[in-house]
Amino acid sequence: MINEMMKKDIKKLLRPNIAALTPYSTARDEFQGSAEVYLDANESAYDNGFNRYPDPRQKVLKKAIAQAENIKEECLFLGNGSDEAIDVLLRVFCNPGVDNVVSISPSYGMYEVATATNDVELRKVRLREDFSLDAEALLAAVDEKTKIVFLCSPNNPSGNLLNEEDILRIAQAMDGIVVVDEAYIHYSDHPGFADRIESQNNIVVLRTLSKARAMAGLRVGMAIADPEIVEVMSMVKYPYNLSQATINEALRHLDTPSLTRTKEEISTTIKERARMAESLPELACVKKVYPSDANFLLVKVDNADALYDYLASKGIIVRNRNRVPGCEGTLRITIGRPEENDRVLEEIRNYAGEVLND
Ligand SMILES: *Cc1c(COP(=O)(O)O)cnc(C)c1O
Repeated sequence: MINEMMKKDIKKLLRPNIAALTPYSTARDEFQGSAEVYLDANESAYDNGFNRYPDPRQKVLKKAIAQAENIKEECLFLGNGSDEAIDVLLRVFCNPGVDNVVSISPSYGMYEVATATNDVELRKVRLREDFSLDAEALLAAVDEKTKIVFLCSPNNPSGNLLNEEDILRIAQAMDGIVVVDEAYIHYSDHPGFADRIESQNNIVVLRTLSKARAMAGLRVGMAIADPEIVEVMSMVKYPYNLSQATINEALRHLDTPSLTRTKEEISTTIKERARMAESLPELACVKKVYPSDANFLLVKVDNADALYDYLASKGIIVRNRNRVPGCEGTLRITIGRPEENDRVLEEIRNYAGEVLND
C-alpha cells in the first residue's frame, strides 16, 4: 500500500531512554470516572474551586479545541504554549550532544533557545531573498542525525506561507520529524497540514491559542500529530502542565459567541493587513512591504533603528528586526485595531516629514 510505504518508524526515532520510559502515574490516571469521596491524591478536602488537581489528560479542553480546530482529539497534545510542545519534541526525539535539528532562517527565535537549552545542534538554512523555501538546500543540511526539521508557515518574521509541495517533499524525503509551526495559519487562506498527518505520520503541526484565538495570556499551545507521537509527548510532559484556572478560562473563551467574535476579528485583521500593505509604501521612508499571510507585516525602511526609536518615543512599540540576518533594515509591525493602525501610519508619515525637513 502506498500509504504504508510513506509511514515512518516513529519508535526508531525516539531517544532510547524515552522509548524505555514508564510514565509517572498520577492518582487521577489510576482512577477515572466519578466517585463521591476522593482520598487518593492528598489534596485538601475543602472545596474552594481549585483544591483538586486538574485532569492530566485535559479531556474537556481537548474536546473543545479539537472541535475549534477541526481535528481528532487523539491527535492533540496540549502544552503551556506551543513553546512547551517545542521543548517536549526536542526532549522526546533528540539525544543531547549527538543529534541535530534543522530550521529555516530567518524564523521564530524559540527554536534556537529550545535547541540550545537541550544541547542540540541547530543548523539554520537560509530562505531565499524573497523568503521562499529552498527545499534542496534544506535537505542538503539533513543527515542521519537530524531528528527534527522546524518549518514555520506562515513564517515569523517574514509573514509568508511556505510552499505546500516543498513541505511535503521534505517530509517524504526525511526519516525524522517535520514540524510545521502554524501559529498564524488562521490569518491565511491555507487549510494547514493537520489533514496530512494521517498519510504522512512524521509531520507534526504546531498551533496555539495565543494569536488569532486571542489568549496569549493563558498559555495554551498544541501539537497536532499521529496518536503514537502524542502518546509519547504526553508521557514526557509534566502531568499537570495546564492549571485548572487555565483550563476553565480557555473553555470560557472557546464558547460559540467567542468563536464567532474571533472569526470577525480575524477578518478585520486581514482587511487591515491589506490596507496597511497598501498605505505603508506611500510613505517616503518605506522601501518595501513583504507579502503577509499572518497578522503582521515585515516592512523594509530607510533607517530601521531610527524609525523604531521615533515610534517608541511616540508610544508605539514595533519589533526591530534590523539585526536579524536576512531582515536587515526591517521592522515587524503587528496589525492592531483600525485606530491603532491609523496611528502607526500617521506617526510614520510625521517621521518621514521630519527626516525630509532635516
Ligand atoms: C507566537 C508564536 C508562537 C506561539 O507560541 P505560544 O508559546 O503558543 O504563545 C509559536 N510559533 C511562532 C512562530 C510564533 O510566532
